[in-house]
Amino acid sequence: MNRENTMDWQEYLNKHRDRFVGELMEFVKIPSISAQSQHKDDVLKAGEWVAERLKNAGLDHVEIFQTEGHPFVYADWIRNKNLPTILIYGHFDVQPTDPLDLWDSPPFEPVIQDGRIYGRGASDDKGNLLSPIAAVEAMLKTDGSLPINIKFFAEGQEEIGSPQLPQFISGHRDLLACDLVVSADGLQWSPDQPKIEIGYRGMMAAEIEVQGPVKDFHSGLYGGVVQNPIHALAHILASFHDTKGRVAVSGFYDEVIEPSEEEKALLARLPVLESEIRDHVQVDELFGESGYTAMERGTIRPTLEICGIQGGYQGEGIKGVVPALAKAKITCRLVAGQDPDKIMEAIRVHVKTFTLPGVRVNFMNCEGRVKAYDMPHDHKGNIAVSNVLKKLYGKDPFVSRCGGTIPICPLFLDGLGVHTVNFAFSYEDENLHSPNEFFRLESMEKGQKGYGMLLRELAKVF
Ligand SMILES: [Zn+2]
Repeated sequence: MNRENTMDWQEYLNKHRDRFVGELMEFVKIPSISAQSQHKDDVLKAGEWVAERLKNAGLDHVEIFQTEGHPFVYADWIRNKNLPTILIYGHFDVQPTDPLDLWDSPPFEPVIQDGRIYGRGASDDKGNLLSPIAAVEAMLKTDGSLPINIKFFAEGQEEIGSPQLPQFISGHRDLLACDLVVSADGLQWSPDQPKIEIGYRGMMAAEIEVQGPVKDFHSGLYGGVVQNPIHALAHILASFHDTKGRVAVSGFYDEVIEPSEEEKALLARLPVLESEIRDHVQVDELFGESGYTAMERGTIRPTLEICGIQGGYQGEGIKGVVPALAKAKITCRLVAGQDPDKIMEAIRVHVKTFTLPGVRVNFMNCEGRVKAYDMPHDHKGNIAVSNVLKKLYGKDPFVSRCGGTIPICPLFLDGLGVHTVNFAFSYEDENLHSPNEFFRLESMEKGQKGYGMLLRELAKVF
């Protein structure tokens, strides 16, 4: 290894800044859209690019794992068994680009403007993934070593729900074994306010299909004579909640574990006003389970939402029919303690109970059930991350929870027995998954420096 040992790792990062920006441009040019089969080779190409980049950074063992779907990339640097080992996670696949006409520049021809790099995947997650790689390179090329053992694990299937990941983790427990996962895929609160995230809700989804008569029939001849499947579906859907917004499925709340008062107080400290939410979504009034704040209802309380409904005549004017079929899609966001399989079963029983005579109901559960994820706010990993964020932003991070679902967190917890901290530097305004996605160049530097500091901090606290 060619050491530049006259400088320290931070000087190295500064000196090579332009090269790192150029590398991100090169990385963004690869159209690694995991959802579209015509880009299968591009996803592999992005994986090979990451593997090559990890090798050049000085990692020891770099390997690409092919799967039935998109590949995984692994690398490590393990020198001292007495030191803790962390696994840094990220992904090299990206979301589709449409609607293309809303992009100001082509999504895979990155441009730099006003300190931002525009292109699909710049923020989610290519920019973030490169930060720890640059930090590790800087340390290896200057100090010649790292303060901690490191594993990298990057995947090419995050944007499609990581179908091969559960099996891969259970088949490679030794390879992936670590003391903590650090996710380089995520957000900070705002460009001048950091956060740590200590919980995500789980998720399950199902479809309800109500079959009435064999085909659409004349409503003048058969209305009032046969059961209308849309009426029957509406009856089921209306039964899911009581008038106070509480889910009325028997057993739904039985195993819910509420966060401690201390954790609720941390959540209450977040500066989110209900009036801001109201203005943002443009409704007159918020609604939800009574007895909880909007922030609580959106993070620590479980929900059942009807996400789509279909049936009967949808064209212009009126058509007098008793339709044959009606369908709805539902999703639940789950919280600590709730078992997705048990909740699915409770809903199935509920749907059966509320099925009116004269129709047949088909209840279909969708794949990909995910448990909720919770991490103690005073976990050593969170303390290390908080210490570094405080230095980077000059402010204590908020302690927040996200109502969304991040499947890798419960997967790593179940599969490897370790928690996952979020240490990434995207912001909500960066058009993730939308046209004109961008990443702040300043975040690249924050991320690189932050990772260098975090490796040292983790070596201290673990
Ligand atoms: Zn992502």
